[in-house]
Amino acid sequence: MSEAPILKDTVRSSGRDALQKNIQAALALSEAIRSTLGPNGLDKLLIDDDGRTLVTNDGVTVLETAKVEHPVAKMMIGASSVQDKIAKDGTTSTVILAGEMLRNAWQLILQGIHPSTISRGYRNAEQFILNNLSDISFHANEDICETVIKTTLAGKGHSSMQEKIAQISLAATKIVFDEKNKLVDSEKIKLISQTGGRVEQSYVIQGLMLPKKRISSDMKREVLDGKIILLDGGLEQRSMSNDLKLNVNNLGVLDSFREKQRDLLLDQVDVLANNGVNVLACREGIDDAVCNYLSEKGIQAFRRVSKNDLNLLTKACNAELVGSISNLKKKNLGGFTISKNVKLDGKDFWVLEGNGNAATIVAKGSTVDVVSEVERCFDDALGVSEQLLEGGLVLCGGGASYVSLARKLRRYAETIPGREQLAIEAYADAIEVIIRVLAENAGIDPIASLLNVVANQTNTNSDNIGINLSSGKPDDMLKLGVIEPQSVVKQALIGATEVAISILRIDDVLWAKHSGEITDLPEPQT
Ligand code: ADP
Ligand code: MG
Repeated sequence: MSEAPILKDTVRSSGRDALQKNIQAALALSEAIRSTLGPNGLDKLLIDDDGRTLVTNDGVTVLETAKVEHPVAKMMIGASSVQDKIAKDGTTSTVILAGEMLRNAWQLILQGIHPSTISRGYRNAEQFILNNLSDISFHANEDICETVIKTTLAGKGHSSMQEKIAQISLAATKIVFDEKNKLVDSEKIKLISQTGGRVEQSYVIQGLMLPKKRISSDMKREVLDGKIILLDGGLEQRSMSNDLKLNVNNLGVLDSFREKQRDLLLDQVDVLANNGVNVLACREGIDDAVCNYLSEKGIQAFRRVSKNDLNLLTKACNAELVGSISNLKKKNLGGFTISKNVKLDGKDFWVLEGNGNAATIVAKGSTVDVVSEVERCFDDALGVSEQLLEGGLVLCGGGASYVSLARKLRRYAETIPGREQLAIEAYADAIEVIIRVLAENAGIDPIASLLNVVANQTNTNSDNIGINLSSGKPDDMLKLGVIEPQSVVKQALIGATEVAISILRIDDVLWAKHSGEITDLPEPQT
């Protein structure tokens, strides 16, 4: 069988060359987003093929929007996307960490250390860190939750915007928090965005707010303390199917057929009224005749409500979505305290405060670009506030945790014999990259910052010392309020290690296949 050309190419380049290219691709990607890290990180302006623009400081957004072809770069982006899903934050850090781990691995390879030894050392280092992470973490009490969320938003917008987004996100999460099971159902939070106004004018309401208007102004604008039915269908006459043949031998037949259909629909309204329903929301349409009858019966109705919104409504009112009204049961109905129509900036909204707990955040911003960045901020902030309320641990930011973990790791490395020790030390050096880049982006000397923080942590025996980016000096991050969820750091380290090892291993496989032909590879060391 003839070899595929790509395989031929691989055979031609030496194993070390291939690995070098892969590492270069990974580094190119991490260099590209390096300048967005931290509170002093700058934004990126992204322009797609159609000329649409996007201004963002969010690492994962930059990476997912960029058209990247290189498979290794794609792996790095994958790690960042996973970080976004699991921890919501730390997406830039993950890529920078992975890049630095690979850079340091390359230095070791140049010294003749085999990638599999490096991978083993990196795994060992990761495990050590995971075992020791709880030593530098603590529980987030009520007072610091807002501070932690603000740290998450570092670099995104200005400080009053961060404060507002943090407050609103925490308030919304508290509304949907299930105290008994210590769980947050984030699906109960709806985010609505509005262009116009300032970010600081964003707000949260208890209940749901949907961009809907009652179908007739004859219906009551506001209904208090009632029952709601959520219908996965409509109250309208079906158009006749093409296969249906109706023999019309009398002028009135068609009319009476339609009348019968209408009567059946009106009967359904009677069923609703008899069950004490005051509000109806359905996925499909409602005929005019039915609409009038609903108004007569004092039922407020909304049509063409999306399936997603209906699902949200089930949670907000403890209701069940019903397929048809004919076999309606009491337990299908939900309850609410208020259902009203309001006008906001000229747009109609339906506000519903149900028996269940749901929250709606109205995010505002002056332009479309600002609003979409505000939405991304809310997304991160809500993710973090959910983790905090569910009892997640926190630790100090500003590079403090990474420096402290690196210090512990170096002491641990001394206990490991053989070349793996060098890999563990390289891993320790790699995770210090965060503090260096934070300093770099703030215009402070990165090396001096790192060394001063290391010295200060050792002298004060404190894991909380990080870099104060305003003064350029080591400082207590707890006092400065630079605190972040443990899960962000933990997941960033897991994700970065995973992708770095996978990239190192790609070459392992290639080397194994062509080991006979490649002469300049270092032998595996133990
Ligand atoms: P990521 O996408 O990795 O979350 P960010 O741009 O959000 O990247 O930057 C996060 C980093 O910035 C974290 O390491 C955090 O500790 C640090 N950071 C945030 N606020 C401050 C601050 N006021 N001083 C120092 N470091 C900070
Ligand atoms: Mg962040």
